[in-house]
Amino acid sequence: MIHIHDLTKVFGKNTVLNKVTTSIDKGEVVTIIGPSGSGKSTLLRCINLLEKPTSGTIRIGNVTITDPKTNIMEVRKNIGMVFQQFNLFPHMTVLENITYAPQKVKHIQRAEAEQKARELLNKVGLLDKEKAYPNQLSGGQKQRVAIARALAMEPEIMLFDEPTSALDPEMVKEVLDVMKDLVELGMTMVVVTHEMNFAKEVADRVIFLDNGVLIEEGNPQDFFNQPKTERAKLFLSKIL
Ligand code: ADP
Ligand code: MG
Repeated sequence: MIHIHDLTKVFGKNTVLNKVTTSIDKGEVVTIIGPSGSGKSTLLRCINLLEKPTSGTIRIGNVTITDPKTNIMEVRKNIGMVFQQFNLFPHMTVLENITYAPQKVKHIQRAEAEQKARELLNKVGLLDKEKAYPNQLSGGQKQRVAIARALAMEPEIMLFDEPTSALDPEMVKEVLDVMKDLVELGMTMVVVTHEMNFAKEVADRVIFLDNGVLIEEGNPQDFFNQPKTERAKLFLSKIL
């Protein structure tokens, strides 16, 4: 579903992604791990063109999204993104946060958008919070709203950039549980995370990035038990 070929991103003199090549299948759950500054967020942001690749190609289904003729808004409609810092609209209620884009971008009628939003709030366990504003929610609740908001666009792909890194420890599980539900539903997911248990238990594949280079990728059992490269061994020895 996602084909990334020789993806390179340069900021000034800094090559942040260096010829990254990989593919992600429909329904696959891939975690991206690696040291801070290794290019994980940049890779994720290139997939929905929040960053413009310097060179290389990204194809999603039949659409080469790195082609200058591609309509970026059309690409993004199909890709949900969840950020470490939630990025909810602070002046909107939970319900408004979730119904805004479907109405604006997909021209869905308000009543229908609200019905769908309530179904999603029910799914993430927050049906009673539709009138709350983001600052009245805990971090875990905010992140669950952010996931519901992304899902309201009915994306085919969900990207998560360290979705639990800003949360207090007791709130991590409630967010991971919502993500696991999505996995069960067959969502195609790319997840940057420091939650190694999520990577081990839930992911189909781990991609290890270091210094902008895809050093190795493989199934989580192999990667965590028998990393092939010294760089991956060193990284794992520091975090496990
Ligand atoms: P990670 O998510 O793995 O911590 P990032 O993708 O955020 O890494 O960043 C990789 C490198 O790219 C870092 O050196 C970072 O400083 C740099 N970088 C990221 N975004 C920008 C930007 N908008 N302008 C300049 N440098 C950037
Ligand atoms: Mg990052």
